[in-house]
This record gives sequence, structure tokens and C-alpha cells, in this order.
Amino acid sequence: MSSDGLSVSVDRSAIQQLCSVSPADVEPADQLSFCRNVFIPLTTACRYTCTYCTYFDPPGQASLLSPQEIREIVREGADAGCTEALFTFGDDPDDRYTAIHDQLAEWGHDSIHSYLREACEIALDEGLLPHANPGDQTREQMEAVTDYNASMGVMLETTADVTAHSGKRTKTPEKRIQTIRTAGELGVPFTTGILVGIGEDWEDRAESLLVIRKLHEQFGHIQEVIIQPVVENERWRGGEPTLETLRRTVAMARHALPEEVSLQVPPNLAPAEEVVDCGIDDLGGVSPVTDDHINPEYAWPALKRLEEIADDAGVPLQERLPVYERYLPSGLRSDGFSGTPADRPASGERWISARIRDELEADTEAGRRYRSVIGCGT
Ligand code: SF4
Repeated sequence: MSSDGLSVSVDRSAIQQLCSVSPADVEPADQLSFCRNVFIPLTTACRYTCTYCTYFDPPGQASLLSPQEIREIVREGADAGCTEALFTFGDDPDDRYTAIHDQLAEWGHDSIHSYLREACEIALDEGLLPHANPGDQTREQMEAVTDYNASMGVMLETTADVTAHSGKRTKTPEKRIQTIRTAGELGVPFTTGILVGIGEDWEDRAESLLVIRKLHEQFGHIQEVIIQPVVENERWRGGEPTLETLRRTVAMARHALPEEVSLQVPPNLAPAEEVVDCGIDDLGGVSPVTDDHINPEYAWPALKRLEEIADDAGVPLQERLPVYERYLPSGLRSDGFSGTPADRPASGERWISARIRDELEADTEAGRRYRSVIGCGT
């Protein structure tokens, strides 16, 4: 059942129409991409308690990586040729997490976003581009870190009110939508997506995809959309979506979203090879170094496996940066893309901050690594 009172309204007939889309209605992509990353679980504290999630730890048990631990992870990633520092969170730890807040205070920070800024700076200094997923964010929180992130993200998951989100601390679709809108207003290249199988129905899936499309039409900032199936784990025994459900959802996403918005299925959570013909063109962030801390029971496939998926589909596999190329200034692009204007987000802000641009253009090992991924020379 869709949530009432969403700030982005979608026409009922468009929802019905999208529900009728099947894999036969879409074309496969002509290439697949991926990004080499390291996964950095900055904190496992979270104000919410989604019933399918094994990432969060309760107060007293939650972890907070130290600056030194962050530095070690990103160094290892840079040495392994990665380009992305993927910072994951729970959602803004509330005041039940006294130990986390005490530790942050000891390190000179009054909020997790203040600490995220320091963490991003460590990543940039060590030669990785930050992509942070801090959950719901106010404008003030997001503004505190945008200039140190190449891109950011949050999963919309669903526009429906589902029991998997309920309880004392309820994650609401409206806050997620507001976060995605704020990213658009601030000119932040953004990744979002839907979670399939948490109690939503087909109309909810269609509505969620159409809400994402509307936000992209307004701001041009959605770089990719992830279609993620929920997976069974020690907290979730509610079942997983069937392959048929996944294929139909991916096809609906491809049909709903403009061509320039990439479509991703995480290959460690879903049989990506079974949905390539439904329109995915990205295999996500793949880490040669760290685990997937959100889904630790589901190991990343080796990069070799990604090559096999692309080979089987008969398409090239292309590495990419955490920020998609069309958001880069013209001197840092090789694709000739003429869709979303790279230098003119709807907000009038720049897509890429001066700090990120400097890192991309720098005559350093990291700068050369970034530019070789783009394919615009060293
Ligand atoms: S899914 Fe995200 S918001 Fe929900 S409990 Fe897990 S970390 Fe928190």
C-alpha cells in the first residue's frame, strides 16, 4: 500500500501502465560498467531498526571506525587500484547511542556528519573519491559534506508504508524523498534505488520508480538506480523475490527511467547474469579488498566473474568512477555525452566541487588512476 501524502505525486494511470511492462518490452544495454571500491562502515549505529537489516547494531554494541582505521582501509584500496571510498552508515545515530556520541566528542566532533567530513578528507588524501550513504539527511547535514564527495546516495527502497520499516523508530519514504530532492537542489550526483520484497506490491514498485524519475526530471542528478532484492539473513526470514519478480522489476525500471540513468543490480545479491537482458548496464561497486558490510553473508564475486557476465552477454565491461562521466566538466570526459548538461545542474550549483575537480586533475598517482578510468589520458 502506497504511503499517503508523498510530496512527489505520480499519476495513477502511469503506475498502471508501468505495471504492464515485461522483459520483452526493453532492450539490453550495449555495455556493462563497474566501479572498484572499498567499503568503509563508518558506524553501525542507526536510529532505525528495519526488520530485514543486519547492518545496524544496538546502542552499546555499535562500532565507530577511528581515523587510523579509515586511513588503513583507504590506503589498501588505493594500493589495489580502487577509485571509490564507499562510506556506509546506519542513519544518523540518535541519542540512545551515548558511547558513539562520547567518542565523537573526544575526537572533536559534535555530529556524525562532522566526522564524515574528516573521513572523506582522509580518503581524498590517500587517493580515493568518497561516495557517502549517510541515510536521511537534512540540507544542513548534506551541505556539510558535499564538497568532499564525488557523489552520494540513499536508497529510496519504496514509497510504501511497509511493516518492515515500522516500530518505534520508523523510516519514512517522505524523508528519503526529501533527501533525494535536497541532493538535486545542491547539485549532487546521486545514486538511489528500490528494495524488492519487503512487503511492497507491484504498484508500489512502479510508484517508487516513477517518483525517482520525476525527481531526476526536475534536477537531472540521478546517476544510477539500484534494483536490490531483499535477502534472507539472521533478522529477515520473510522470503526473497523470485527471479521472475526481479526480472520484471528491472524491466519496469529500465522502461521508467531515462536512458542516461544507469540501472544496477548488485551481483553479490542477485543473479545479475539473469537480468542483463532486462536492461541493466551496471554491476555496481565491487571491492577487491573489503567485504560487503551490509550483506556480509554474501561475498563479492571476483572481478573475473564480472568479466564472465559481460562476456556471456556479448558486451564490453567498462570500469567507471563513483561519479558518472556525464557529471564531469568537459576536460575530464571522453564519452561525448550530450544529455544532462555537465556544467549546469538545475540548482545552478556545480556537479563537482573544486576539491574533487582538483583531485581528478592532479598530477598524482591517484589523479592519473582516475583519469585512466575515464580514458581521458594521464
Ligand atoms: S536498512 Fe539502513 S536505516 Fe534501516 S536499520 Fe539498516 S542501516 Fe538503519
